Amino acid sequence: MNGARILDRLQRLSHLQDLEMMIHEAEDAKAKKAEEEMGFHMRGLEKLRAARDKWRAQVDPRDLRLFDRIVKRHLRAIVPVEERICLGCYVTLPTSVSPPAGDQDRLLTCENCGRILYWLE
Ligand SMILES: [Zn+2]
Repeated sequence: MNGARILDRLQRLSHLQDLEMMIHEAEDAKAKKAEEEMGFHMRGLEKLRAARDKWRAQVDPRDLRLFDRIVKRHLRAIVPVEERICLGCYVTLPTSVSPPAGDQDRLLTCENCGRILYWLE
């Protein structure tokens, strides 16, 4: 897995992000729901968590460490870049930051908010 291309790694992180967001939403819904509906939501939440744990095994361990660190601070750890602007914090990225090339090894993070960046264009 270590040699996986950077775009593939970003995609894996983005899937992980989706699962984390769904878990967050399910936990939120659970907190708001009446007692009798709890059973249903608990089962859904368990499924989501199981899927998340399974998927984590598909992510590069280094990327996972970075992801986990960012998630502690921001709910969304991986954010798009549009016209050089980090859509996580709306800061314009320096011109030295450019879309990752296929053979690049390092994930790019925003200097301001620290989130992992991916390019929409
Ligand atoms: Zn940012």
